[in-house]
Amino acid sequence: MLSGRGSLNDAPDMHSPGQRHLLAFIAIGAVLAGALLYALWRAPEPIPLRRHPLEIHVLDVGQGDSLLIISPMGKAVLIDAGPPEAADTVLAALRREKVHELNLVVATHPHADHIGGMVDVLETFPVKLFLDSGQVHPTRTVARMLETIRERGIAFLIAEPGQEFELEEGITLRVLAPMKPRIVRAGRDRLNANSIVLLLTDGSFSLLLTGDSERETEKRLLRTYPSLSANILKVAHHGSRYATSRPFLERLRPEVAIISCGAGNPYGHPAQETLDRLRAVVPTLYRTDLHGEITISVDRRSYWIETEYPTSADVWVGRSSGHRSVEDRATEVPERAFR
Ligand SMILES: [Zn+2]
Ligand SMILES: [Zn+2]
Repeated sequence: MLSGRGSLNDAPDMHSPGQRHLLAFIAIGAVLAGALLYALWRAPEPIPLRRHPLEIHVLDVGQGDSLLIISPMGKAVLIDAGPPEAADTVLAALRREKVHELNLVVATHPHADHIGGMVDVLETFPVKLFLDSGQVHPTRTVARMLETIRERGIAFLIAEPGQEFELEEGITLRVLAPMKPRIVRAGRDRLNANSIVLLLTDGSFSLLLTGDSERETEKRLLRTYPSLSANILKVAHHGSRYATSRPFLERLRPEVAIISCGAGNPYGHPAQETLDRLRAVVPTLYRTDLHGEITISVDRRSYWIETEYPTSADVWVGRSSGHRSVEDRATEVPERAFR
């Protein structure tokens, strides 16, 4: 069409009357076609479906956390790497998803059930950026992780609220916590309370990732982000009773909650009282101890969830079931011993 217009402008008088008639015809056609194209150009485009959805894999790492995000164009983000014994599971998932490089790796906090598999990941895959909660925790696991980051020259960043990582257009991972000053009086554990909290958004879809955060973390989130909401909540601290408060759930109003915990874990995760609070607000719950790996797929119109296997178990029944968890007893025994 552009070349047609070009020939009209070049030498209109060189043509015979018949040709002129034809050119006039072409010109009318070109103008009409131009008008049509312009109208199409201006009309709001229907939202194209992506060739691949955004995928979030909540990996079944037993008692711990590891979550893999793959963007439609293939950018990969790993949030935590499970306990040491799950390193092979994490590596297998990365290979299965054809990850060649990790654009971002996050350690929500330095507990071994979150960073135990990290060294294996860092030694196997190129990593562009490592995001850390910046908390000091003098264990061999942490020392080896930091050493590997240094040795491999991986860019290292300490999480601050307001940081945003745009995976690709419209898909953003935003840091909500840890806030400053750090929480010093935690309900259970300071490292947990200062976990990195992330909000993944894709258009109108949102997923809140809470690490092992605690009630105090939730209070701060509610104060700082009054309009916070999420379609899906990755439940904090493997469903322990120290998090997932009623006010927090009522603000978020998630449609789906996901708990990552190990079958037969000694901590009584998830706690029955947490499951009761969840059940009062959230319609649907998935658990890695009952469903295996849980995969969320998001396209621009909807999201859907698939599990590794079905379960006949009641997802709303906790592992502590009204008894005190081993985790609680573990803190109480020494206190009694010193009395
Ligand atoms: Zn944990
Ligand atoms: Zn923890």
